[in-house]
Parts: sequence; structure tokens; C-alpha cells
Amino acid sequence: MPTARAYCIAAPDAPFHPTTIERREPSADEVAFDVLFAGICHSDIHTARSEWGPAHYPLVPGHELAGIVTKVGENVTNFKIGDHVGVGCFIDSCRECESCLAGAEQFCTGPGRTIWTYNTLDRYAKYTDGGYSTAITVDAKYLLHIPNSLPLAEAAPLLCAGITTYSPLKKWGAGVGKKVAIVGMGGLGHVAVKIAHAMGAEVSVISQTLSKEADGRAFGASDYVATSEPGALKRLAGTFDLVLSTVAAEEDITPLVATCKRGGVFVDVGMPAGKSQLALRALCGSQAVVAASMIGGIRETQEMLNFCGEHGITATVEIISGDQITQAYDNVVASKVRYRYVIDTSTFPEN
Ligand SMILES: [Zn+2]
Ligand SMILES: [Zn+2]
Repeated sequence: MPTARAYCIAAPDAPFHPTTIERREPSADEVAFDVLFAGICHSDIHTARSEWGPAHYPLVPGHELAGIVTKVGENVTNFKIGDHVGVGCFIDSCRECESCLAGAEQFCTGPGRTIWTYNTLDRYAKYTDGGYSTAITVDAKYLLHIPNSLPLAEAAPLLCAGITTYSPLKKWGAGVGKKVAIVGMGGLGHVAVKIAHAMGAEVSVISQTLSKEADGRAFGASDYVATSEPGALKRLAGTFDLVLSTVAAEEDITPLVATCKRGGVFVDVGMPAGKSQLALRALCGSQAVVAASMIGGIRETQEMLNFCGEHGITATVEIISGDQITQAYDNVVASKVRYRYVIDTSTFPEN
């Protein structure tokens, strides 16, 4: 059985430590690749700390993987050794249910449901280990091509942050002549600004402060608003065709929804853990739509990567070593990262 070097966490409050994990020899339909970089998503932290329910330990998180193909099964025709590839939030699903057939594998309702890249029992009755590792083996149907024009470290976060924002921006019509607001300028928000701008929309950022305004404008925003300024949201009432909220704060979203134009759309991708508030009466005056979105299927993720390749879009990242993961988690929670940590797996020690 091939092995990989990895970083795992043994308990919700434990530090990360180096370990060795097993990976499969690729079957006829599978591809093995060396993971060179793995992004740190806030979901990794929620899972590793058992904040979304008890996790299975030891846990190797990571669902923003980018690397290079090393081995290809005999039935695989669309990948070859040396290809730049990525894996996102899931690596398998039933392939037969209505969601899977529609290319929305993240909502699989079949036996076993969606097999997430880590912390999920797979079809081999083994808990999946994610991207904080030097290698992985996956079914080619769940593997993505990363355009050669994109540096792998900066492309890795597209596998979650990219598709999470691209999918609702596309679905709800971000484009030329549309006014789009991105709420929050973190790992998701900064990529959303770049993608919405590339789609041709007029982009505004709504953030707590103006501390990231210069970056936001460099990423493509033409307006930048701080909610810490009294009356800021009130002045924006009725302004936007689309408001994409990337923040996980449990708050009253009524003033944000009110920034939608008549018939505008408010979409949440921040997934607040608790309950948010909304005065439904506020919708009546504008016929606004309130929606949510969660990543995207394989077909759409490939479409997003191709779009980012054409437009030269990547995440803005800070590259860290394996022994910095524990500190990086605290920094992400404290909003100290600009804008995504990406782990360089070449720093993982030989055990
Ligand atoms: Zn994620
Ligand atoms: Zn399914």
C-alpha cells in the first residue's frame, strides 16, 4: 500500500502533528497524484474542532488540493502523468440519483450520499483523509484539470472558495450591466470580487471596515463600503441586482437584503452556524429573493477553473509550512490572513 506524509489533528483542541497515512494504488478508473499545495478553508477548522458535530480522529483535513498526476488507471482517458489537477470538497457520490445525474453531486441523495474529501466513510469503509498530505488517489470522475497558466499554490483555493462563489454569481446573472455586492473580504469574498469583476459586473464590497479597501479595488471593486460607518447600508438601499454574502456572522440580514433592487437576489454562502434574522416584510416592498448556495458540481467546477484560466484569476495566498497549520487556524478565526493560507506539502517531514 502506498503511503503519504500528512498533518493530522487527534482531538478538537490538539495541535496538528506530522503522520503517515495509507493511499490506494489507483484502480482502473482512478488517478494518483502528488498534492503539492492545499488551502486552509474555514470549513476545515469547523470540522477539525468538531464545531459541526463530532469529527472522526485522527483527522487529515483539506479540500482545496492542487498537484501533479503520477499514476493513471487503464480506463482513464482524460488525464495523463504530469497533468496539473485539483480536488475539491468531495471525491465520490452515488452517481445515479437525481442530483448526481444533474451534475450536482454535492447534494447526492443516493446510498452513501456525497463522500466528502475528508471525515467521511467511503465506499471502502474507510474514513477519507484530505489534502494536508503529499499524495492522494481519486476516481477520475471527481478530479479536475487546473489550467497550466495558473500557479498551483494560488489555484488550490479555487477548488472550494472559487466554485463556492462562481456558482451563485453565474446562476443569478452577475455580468455586464449588473451591480453586484460582495459582503465580506475574506477567503471567499476576495475571490468573489475577482470573479464577479471578470464576469463584467460592477462590483461593490461591503465589509466591516475599510482596512482592505486598496486590495478590494485592486481585485476589481469600484466601490467599497464599511458597515462600521453609521447609515452605510441605509444609503445602499435598493442598489444591487445581486448581493453575495460570504460572512458567517449570525445577524439580522434585513438591512443587507434591503440593498437589493426590486427583484434583486441575496445569496448566502457564509453558512452561519446559528440562526440569522430577516424581517420578511422587508421583501414585500422589493420582491427580493433570498437564496443560499453550496459549492458546485464537478462539471461546473471544471467550467469555473477554465474561466479562471482564461481570465488569470487565482486566490491571493500566504504559503505556509506544515508546522504552521495550528497557528494558521487561530489566525483565520481572527481574520488575520490575507487572503487564504496554502500549505506547501514539500515542508512535511519524513517520518
Ligand atoms: Zn471549503
Ligand atoms: Zn447521487
